[in-house]
Amino acid sequence: GIQQRDVIVIGAGAAGLFCAAEAGKRGRRVEVLDHAKKVGRKILMSGGGRCNFTNMYASAENFLSANLHFCKSALSRYTQWDFISLVNDYGIAYHEKTLGQLFCDESAKDIVRLLLSECDKAGVSVTTRCEVVSVEKSDNGYYLSTSSGDYACESLVIATGGLSMPKLGATPFGYKVAEQFGLNVLPTRAALVPFTLHDADKQHISELSGVSVDVSAGCQDTSFKEAMLFTHRGLSGPAMLQISSYWTPGETLQINLLPENDAQAFIENARNRSPDALLATCLAQLFPKRMALTLINYLGWRNCPVKQLSHSECDAIASALNDWQVKPNGTEGYRTAEVTLGGVDTDNLSSKTMMAKDVDGLYFIGEVVDVTGWLGGYNFQWAWSSGWAAGQVV
Ligand code: FAD
Repeated sequence: GIQQRDVIVIGAGAAGLFCAAEAGKRGRRVEVLDHAKKVGRKILMSGGGRCNFTNMYASAENFLSANLHFCKSALSRYTQWDFISLVNDYGIAYHEKTLGQLFCDESAKDIVRLLLSECDKAGVSVTTRCEVVSVEKSDNGYYLSTSSGDYACESLVIATGGLSMPKLGATPFGYKVAEQFGLNVLPTRAALVPFTLHDADKQHISELSGVSVDVSAGCQDTSFKEAMLFTHRGLSGPAMLQISSYWTPGETLQINLLPENDAQAFIENARNRSPDALLATCLAQLFPKRMALTLINYLGWRNCPVKQLSHSECDAIASALNDWQVKPNGTEGYRTAEVTLGGVDTDNLSSKTMMAKDVDGLYFIGEVVDVTGWLGGYNFQWAWSSGWAAGQVV
């Protein structure tokens, strides 16, 4: 027979589990369905296994969306401080790593346990290894046909996340349901993802694999001052992941390799103080020696005593150091991306409840929605805030 529930949530990730617990607390009979073997796999992988579960400074400015105002309501009704207080209730130890980013001291498992315990207390049932075959509208709700049997529910919440890391169970399911019910889905793109370089650049840069430097990286009027990591494929590290969300194919990145220094002044100073020192020796005051040598080779500078450099050579060096222009070949794509840009168009959703404006009882929460946070705990905060908002009304 048909299994009747008040609320069905598809996707047992951050947003889905949190929403389910909130709805359960209101006395709703809630079922969470997920096709994966276990719940919250992305949470377990997140923050290098320690889950950067929120950010102390989270606000609408830390999100990308076609409508930059959409996320404000949910973020202000369920804030980072609300989630931090829940984490405190569970006695989970955490610390600020940098820039307001809060990580578990022990393990991301603590966050999954918190979510499952909240669901358990609220009487929510969770079914894993469940394939949802079809979703149909009924007179007063939805019918679902699944590998665990047929379900009927009043409210249906789609919390299936984005496309990043298909190995962790990501699918386009949520976008398909949105389209099935006439909602617009904005084009999706991998974000918070490392860059790959053209062969000519990669040849040199790959020698620096493992070197990390503090930079300011920009494109499209946005820039981030954080660490950049050279990899054997290209450029990674927080600065690159952040700017990847703003980058579109074909664009050039502006990377300031000396965000705290005026390179022109540094070179002039070096020429005055140690005119006989080799360029590599001078640059090694700023960067690891290996990087100084690689930059010289890669950018075709003369590694001569600095007094012998012409003014135009000095200018070229200074401008490359303060404004290195790199044109990436692409990104590593969904395979390694932390998030997905784009998704269910917020124009079609209520910012207060996350319900589709024209489809009664159908909700979209978390990453499947066209709201994407910066690196630093913002994406989980969006999952908690949007999940909470829907949880109050489903
Ligand atoms: P998800 O957590 O992805 O959950 C979606 C769920 O839906 C999954 O359980 C999936 O199995 C299920 N599902 C998918 N398709 C189907 C289907 N067809 N049928 C049934 N179930 C389905 N963000 C941070 O804020 N801080 C971090 O430290 C951080 N680290 C990250 C590290 C990695 C490696 C990755 C990949 C992401 C990281 N993120 C981080 C981003 C964050 O994990 C996501 O933004 C967040 O998990 C989104 O929550 P969600 O509930 O919308 O989706």
